[in-house]
Amino acid sequence: HSTPLTSCQAIDSIEQSNSTLNAFVSYRTKDDIAKSEPQNGPLKGWPVGIKANIAMTTASTTCASKVLEGYTSPFKATAVEALEKAGAVIVGKTNMDEFGMGSKNLYSKYGPARNPFRPDDTVGTEIYDYSPGGSSGGSGAAVAAGMCRVALGSDTGGSVRLPGAWCGIVGYKPTYGRISRYGLVPYGSSLDTVGIMARTVEDVLSTFKAICIPDHRDMTCMSESLRKRINDMAKSRPWVNKLYEVSPGESLEIKQPLKGMRIGIPRECWVEELSEPALESWKAGARRLADLGCEIVAVSLPHLPYSLPTYYTIALAEASSNLARYDGIRYGRRSSEKPDDLHNCNASNKYANTRSEGFGVEVQRRILLGTYVLSAQTCEQYYIPSQKIRRLIQQDFDSVFALPNALHAESALAKSRLLTSRPAGVDALLFPTSTNTARLLESKEKNQAAGYVNDVMTVPANLAGIPAISVPAGKKNGMPLGLQLSAQYGDDELLLRIASHLQ
Ligand code: GLN
Repeated sequence: HSTPLTSCQAIDSIEQSNSTLNAFVSYRTKDDIAKSEPQNGPLKGWPVGIKANIAMTTASTTCASKVLEGYTSPFKATAVEALEKAGAVIVGKTNMDEFGMGSKNLYSKYGPARNPFRPDDTVGTEIYDYSPGGSSGGSGAAVAAGMCRVALGSDTGGSVRLPGAWCGIVGYKPTYGRISRYGLVPYGSSLDTVGIMARTVEDVLSTFKAICIPDHRDMTCMSESLRKRINDMAKSRPWVNKLYEVSPGESLEIKQPLKGMRIGIPRECWVEELSEPALESWKAGARRLADLGCEIVAVSLPHLPYSLPTYYTIALAEASSNLARYDGIRYGRRSSEKPDDLHNCNASNKYANTRSEGFGVEVQRRILLGTYVLSAQTCEQYYIPSQKIRRLIQQDFDSVFALPNALHAESALAKSRLLTSRPAGVDALLFPTSTNTARLLESKEKNQAAGYVNDVMTVPANLAGIPAISVPAGKKNGMPLGLQLSAQYGDDELLLRIASHLQ
């Protein structure tokens, strides 16, 4: 768009394309929007989509699950509240995989969202049979198709980055704890983040600034003092200081020279599944950063190959506990089968029936697996080792970044490392977002675990709590590819500044 999208234009495109793309599960009318003037703020009038697992009081929050059919939250998510305060106009709720569990937006009670991109040979037809990626597939398709300027998604293991890559837009997962999770329906609480999707890194940064605030209602949201420590550390690096300099009145504060940055290429991301086009775009991205004055170095994150099984153990364990609350009594749908009397000795059937009818097949599979890995007999075999490996993965990342981890580093030690001449280590990592372009919605995986392979590049950042962003990186046969950048815990601003050069 040469001129920014207005909320009226956004509703027009939703009305025009939603029956094909199924990106929104509910949306407002122009009349309804016209009734209230947006607040004055940096996002004034920006049409924004909100993923169906983020709470609003004016539309239902179903997480695309039958179990939450008709459920409207009595409170608003902090991120939504902050967006409205900044002037954004919420236009509707976007489609997703049920409770965030999936990578193709296939598991939704509303049916799949569809990728607005098609291979070159189907352009001109009415066929849209590629996945937009998941689980925030609706948000990805909506931004790519001009149905909103920005969309919020959630990212537990890649759910904004994979749809970002497959829909040719920017998908950003912040450092864990920078954006409040209050009002984001939990999946894996130690991994969950609110993510931001937009066409440009600049729009992502403006949105991030509006919603990156401390919040006492989420105990894992970063305190004011930790935010200050991170900020001080980030700015004590003489070699990146110029990236934070903004001339007065300069609106585009994001593109500052990258000369002197050091970018790491993790060897372990060169996986067997990596397709030729993904490899080519990875090389092209590295060349581009080198041309801009970055030093490109190979690094090793030895425990990275264990990320996928570690993630699918921890995420599912947490999910099995988080999803226990959907019993048909407190929220949403209740089985109509007898018995009705909870004091009856068969009352547990009421819960069981509600859950059997309300949860889809993938969610049930994950609750079962999660319950299994947490059970007394197997906990020591799967869950505990996964937590240990998670720590090793975090340490791998700490060992390659020049900036110490603000969570673990003694501040004196951190300072001494930074104030001397430039320490060893890289400022950011560059690797593909996905092993390939979008998959067909219908493609049958050989087995269930084969479908999980889509997440191999994205889950490490969630395990480590570090920020990561996917930016568009060319196309193959008309289908977009994404490249990913990741940085040290809390180093989000630097990450966005580097990413703005790649888009
Ligand atoms: N595809 C991953 C999963 O199914 C990640 C999902 C997410 O980030 N919400 O768990």
